[in-house]
Amino acid sequence: LRRALEREEISILYQPIVRLEDRSIAGFEALARWDHPKLGRVGPSEFISIAEEIGLIVDLGMFVMDRTARQLAIWQQSMRHRGPIFASVNVSSRQLLRHDLIHDLRSVLSRSAVARGTLKLELTESLVMENPEHAAQMMHRIRELGAGLSLDDFGTGHSSLAYLQRFPFDTIKIDQSFVRTTNRGTRPVLLKSIIAMAHDLGMDVVAEGAESDSDAVELYQLGCEYAQGFAFGEPMSADAARRLLAEERLEAAQ
Ligand code: C2E
Ligand code: MG
Ligand code: MG
Repeated sequence: LRRALEREEISILYQPIVRLEDRSIAGFEALARWDHPKLGRVGPSEFISIAEEIGLIVDLGMFVMDRTARQLAIWQQSMRHRGPIFASVNVSSRQLLRHDLIHDLRSVLSRSAVARGTLKLELTESLVMENPEHAAQMMHRIRELGAGLSLDDFGTGHSSLAYLQRFPFDTIKIDQSFVRTTNRGTRPVLLKSIIAMAHDLGMDVVAEGAESDSDAVELYQLGCEYAQGFAFGEPMSADAARRLLAEERLEAAQ
């Protein structure tokens, strides 16, 4: 895995996050892949935990953050006709608990001219709850530097509602298990309440795992403003993402 990073076998795919109101692209989430010379393409669930164990996650995380910020700056420069899109990057606990994250983030932001607040870091509940005091401190510094903060996989961890108010998240990403219909064909009852609660706290809501058009329609009716999922595009190369943005521009001009 160490060598993979040096040999540039780690690539980044970008999955669109869509504004449900008009289905325009609001941003992308960066998702790491390992193109192994023998095993082929390996997903993050197979190597992120290993990278965490051996401490490589710091370098890997920095790589993803830097690449994504550069990519985001290119997209934003080529689309000055519309509001800036955002890009979000997943952050592991090992990264958040190290003070160097602030230093790394500062250098990433100084190298790439991205609009303020449009590079977002995605944290999970479990990671934040490991050390809430320290996490809160780090998160305030991250926001001060001009990065955004999303709470990833909401609903799968402890969901400590009291803490939600204390942490400076601008976005909540609702886990796919809450988005998917149950075997009786209905959405989990909590979905509507989670969306309302996030809005009361002044946060935007992204629904993860929107796989069908009916998912998208219903999410919009429930007041959810953004969605991500196979209904709007699978994780794709930076080039494919650029083509998608260009197509959208053409359609808007017609
Ligand atoms: P995540 O951050 O919750 O990312 C969303 C995952 O859901 C992605 O899996 C994505 O491909 C998948 N997904 C998107 N739309 C749909 C859908 O409509 N249906 C279904 N069933 N799945 C969908 P992926 O790419 O395998 O990533 C898995 C997890 O690995 C991520 O979950 C994230 O926690 C972690 N991860 C990925 N890249 C990185 C990274 O660069 N750093 C760190 N620390 N973690 C990463
Ligand atoms: Mg994520
Ligand atoms: Mg997630």
